[in-house]
Amino acid sequence: MHREGRVATDPESEIHSNEIHELARQNLADAHLQEAYRSSTLRLYEHRLAAIRQVPDFELLRDRARALKREVIEHLDHYLQEFASSAERAGASVHWAERSEEACAQVVEIARRAGVTQVVKAKSMVSEEIELNHALEAAGIRAVETDLGEFILQLAHERPAHIVAPAIHKTRGDVANLFVTHLHSERSEQLERLTLIARQALRRAFAEAGMGVSGANFAVAETGTIVLIENEGNIRFSTTVPRIHVALVGIEKLIPRFRDLAIFLRLLARSGTGQKLTSYTSLLTGPRRAGEDGPVELHIILLDNGRIRTLADPKMREALYCIRCGACLNACPVYRKIGGHAYGWVYSGPIGALITPQFAGLGAARELPFASSLCGACREVCPVRINIPDLLLHLRHQVQSLPRSEASQRVGSPRAEKLSMRLWAWAMKHPWAYSLAAWTGRWMQRLCLMREAANQRWIRSIPWLPLSQWTSGRDLPALAPQSFREMWKKELGRCGIKSR
Ligand code: SF4
Repeated sequence: MHREGRVATDPESEIHSNEIHELARQNLADAHLQEAYRSSTLRLYEHRLAAIRQVPDFELLRDRARALKREVIEHLDHYLQEFASSAERAGASVHWAERSEEACAQVVEIARRAGVTQVVKAKSMVSEEIELNHALEAAGIRAVETDLGEFILQLAHERPAHIVAPAIHKTRGDVANLFVTHLHSERSEQLERLTLIARQALRRAFAEAGMGVSGANFAVAETGTIVLIENEGNIRFSTTVPRIHVALVGIEKLIPRFRDLAIFLRLLARSGTGQKLTSYTSLLTGPRRAGEDGPVELHIILLDNGRIRTLADPKMREALYCIRCGACLNACPVYRKIGGHAYGWVYSGPIGALITPQFAGLGAARELPFASSLCGACREVCPVRINIPDLLLHLRHQVQSLPRSEASQRVGSPRAEKLSMRLWAWAMKHPWAYSLAAWTGRWMQRLCLMREAANQRWIRSIPWLPLSQWTSGRDLPALAPQSFREMWKKELGRCGIKSR
């Protein structure tokens, strides 16, 4: 299982997301994991619902946020230049990285120049995306994750399983075991005790680190400000205690003006965790000035790594509106069942299925656009109204148009599926065939429902292949005892009207 392995991020290479079927099967068989995902995602989902109910203009906020992200993405060149100029005016050094290797090399170079041997890291999905820890390790620099979830995953040698809650799949028992093994602490499953153990280990790291690395939730073009939100206070520590702060920023993270920030802050925490605001919001504009605390040097690395490619497709560029709130993961019935690691890379859930093929290359992640039931739950909750199902369909179409060399690896429409779709289309055009199929279906389902309680409207298992595969993981709604046409005919008869 690749879960603990290293995943290449080179767009030309495999990223293993094509193992989704195998990983999903393993995760579905793991009752412990299933419960962890189910309870955590439902909790976050319900918290979001409760939080947005208290904001009467929430839908207007969503419209405004979408319009702002659209403005930025449509004029990204302009806003990038504006951000770089503003940040440099404030005293930051701005670097540009086209690929992950380049971004890693820049971080390593900054550390080497300053003689840094230990780095503290705030939670950053971009740093996961570029595999910064491996690059630092290879350069002899120790990286310590300081977000509690990321710290746990670093001990477990795993990638994040969720954008917002990286260790969502770990129970307190799992964490207790990890701490005993790696930190040689006494075993306790008490949350306060576990947090204290982590805190003791991390305090030392903050004090010893020469450099802090963070991501950015937003980057304000007007002022060159980096905005970081969090609940643990570790980001504030990582970006102020060490002498050097490096912020890794995906180029889509820009927002135009400082005043726009209020809209995004009201949306992000409510959508992600159901909070009005997270416990800490840090606004960092340049390195420290006289009389202030904070880093002496601030380096901002603006990363492309597939984002410009996404921008080039007018349909797909909407994916760049994402503010990484994680709400679509919590709402997604597929994510809840198969879990984050099944998506094969750092970004999981509906947004992972969209952006992984963009950032890492469609050939390398060709199965991901099919990891969705297209139910639309993700679109319902997305604070910037990304039409995820529509974009997934667009990607599915592109997968089918992959060059012949990759044809053998195309997915999504096996012959049986194509044949059944053709039959379905034919039956829909021939009413007698449709009625016959419905009548046959109703007779056959009686056999399946015989084992169920009276009035059961769900078929729990079908004994015949390939339908038995469908019911091995889910129930199938039973056909209604009467079709609409039959009911209509009966009603007309009751009114003395002869149907044609
Ligand atoms: S796609 Fe929308 S819901 Fe999903 S993480 Fe991004 S902003 Fe949040």
